Order: sequence, then C-alpha cells, then structure tokens
Amino acid sequence: MKTLVLTLLLPVALLITRAGAGTTPSAPGVVTEHGRLQVAGNRIVGKHGRPVSLAGNSFYWSQWMGRFYTAETVAWLKRDWDSALVRAACGVTRDGGYLGDPAGNLARVTAVVDAAIQNDIYVIIDWHDHKAHQHVEQALAFFSEMARRYGSSPHVIYEIFNEPLADASWERDVKPYAERVIAAIRAHDPDNLIVVGTPAWSQRVDLAAADPIKDPNVAYTLHFYAGTHKADLRAKAEKAMDLGAAIMVTEWGTCNADGNGPVDEASVREWMDFMRRHHLSHCNWAVSDVRESASILRPGASDKGNWKDTDLTPSGMLVRGVIRGWGR
Ligand code: MG
Repeated sequence: MKTLVLTLLLPVALLITRAGAGTTPSAPGVVTEHGRLQVAGNRIVGKHGRPVSLAGNSFYWSQWMGRFYTAETVAWLKRDWDSALVRAACGVTRDGGYLGDPAGNLARVTAVVDAAIQNDIYVIIDWHDHKAHQHVEQALAFFSEMARRYGSSPHVIYEIFNEPLADASWERDVKPYAERVIAAIRAHDPDNLIVVGTPAWSQRVDLAAADPIKDPNVAYTLHFYAGTHKADLRAKAEKAMDLGAAIMVTEWGTCNADGNGPVDEASVREWMDFMRRHHLSHCNWAVSDVRESASILRPGASDKGNWKDTDLTPSGMLVRGVIRGWGR
C-alpha cells in the first residue's frame, strides 16, 4: 500500500519540486497551521480558537548533551518522529551551565530554536534551573535577549523556571520571580506563550492555579515520570484546570522521577489518555545518550539524526511510537 502511494505521488512531487525553484514540497507545518499559541480559559488554543495538543521531545541539559543541539537532530525529530515541538533545556547551575558559560549555552539553545523555526515546529526555551529565584538577574538577561530575538516568531514558547524544589513557596519565591521575568519578556514580546514552573518539581499546579499570575498568556508547568507519578498527580492537575489554569507538560518521562528504573508502559498509557482528554501538549525527557532509562538514545548515537531502531533505548522506542501517533 505504501509503495503504491509513493509510486503515485512521486511524479507529482517531482513536478512541485521543479516548479518551486528549489523548495521542498510538503504539507503546511504545524506552526503555519496553528499560529501563535494562546491561553483561553484553561486551554491552550491556536489562532483558529480551537485547543491545540502537541507531542514532542525535550533536549537534555545543554551543558552535558550539547552535542545533540544541532539542526540535523531537530530536523530528524520532525521528519522521523513527527515531533511538533522541541524543548531546549538551558542548563543554568552546575558544571558548564549558563551561570559559568552564558555564551556557550546560549549558542546551543539558539541552534535548536533557529532549527525549530526553520522546520516550522514549536520550540520551548527552558530555563533549566531548580533555584531560578536565586539567579534572577541572569534569567532577566537571558529572557530579555530571547524575547528581543524571537518575540515576533509564533514558534517560540518561554519556560522560565523548570522545576522549583519542594521547599519553594509559590507565593514568596516562584510567583515574584515569574512576575519579574514576565515583565522583562513582555517589554520585547507582548504576546507569546509563557509557561511557569510550579513548586515540588512542577507538580503543584494546583497552588499556582489558586493564586494565578496576571498576564493574558501564561500557562503552568506540570511534570510527571510515569513510574513514580500516578492518579494523585493527575488529580492535582484536574484541580488546577477546574480552577481555570491552563497546563503544559513540558517534561515527562517513561520511568522513575530520577530518570532511571523500568519503563512503565501501562502508566505511560494512562498519562497519554489523560493528556489526550485534556488537550495537553507534552515533551518527553530526553534527547540524550547518557546511561539513564529516560534517554531515548543508546550511547554513541549520532548527533545528526538518521537513527535506526538499534540506536534507540526501550524508552526511545516507546516514545517514538507515542509521538508519531499523536497527530496535531
Ligand atoms: Mg510575540
């Protein structure tokens, strides 16, 4: 069947290629289709006003898996995995992070953002910090620059605080930090979607929903790891949505919350049903070949895509199927 379709389409594709003076024929990209994402009540909608639910991949800490921050990897994730969004995780603290090497990490992040725009998919610019409220000045500088550079691009989503820790207070730490960073972004970009992390590793979306930020295009971050988090976390998410908050799952894993342990396929299916039901978008952690269950790649996989099944881990195989089957 596939062969027959290809045989029929090939002459048409060749004609379009010739007529298009070097451009490749393709269906409109996902960003062309949905435009800039916008919070409407407790949903995230496209320019047409309908809820948008997208599946894609999160890159790993930029300072440690920077080799995958390439245009070729982004293009492969779009083409072979059908990823509709990617997440560039700008490592902030720890060895080699933004605090010690702003230029190096900025270059990795912008390589992924530029490639996502080229491929007409969405991209989350993630400030991958657990204590962002202790590095406000650096976050302000980083997001001012990102908003100045990318604020007019509908592809871009800002994620300003990856995972506040369990002892972070929404009221005293996270919300005041978010309000300052959002003001810095809004000085250059009045309208792109901003996603704000929530206490306890971005699980307490209910706390944020009870005391929301005043901005017309802010959603809140929910993270889960299928081996660790189950129905009680989904109940928190439903409580937040009932309170009127829009949620985005900017990071999820197939295994335990520490990135290891077995792939919990049954729990993954429950979470996918949940996200489908609530029109949530999600990025899988992570594009990495480090020896952790959550990595999609086996050690030594190419940083230019073209991965074969033998390059993928069990998590990578499962997640590829999830993303390819998600639609847009
Ligand atoms: Mg804008």
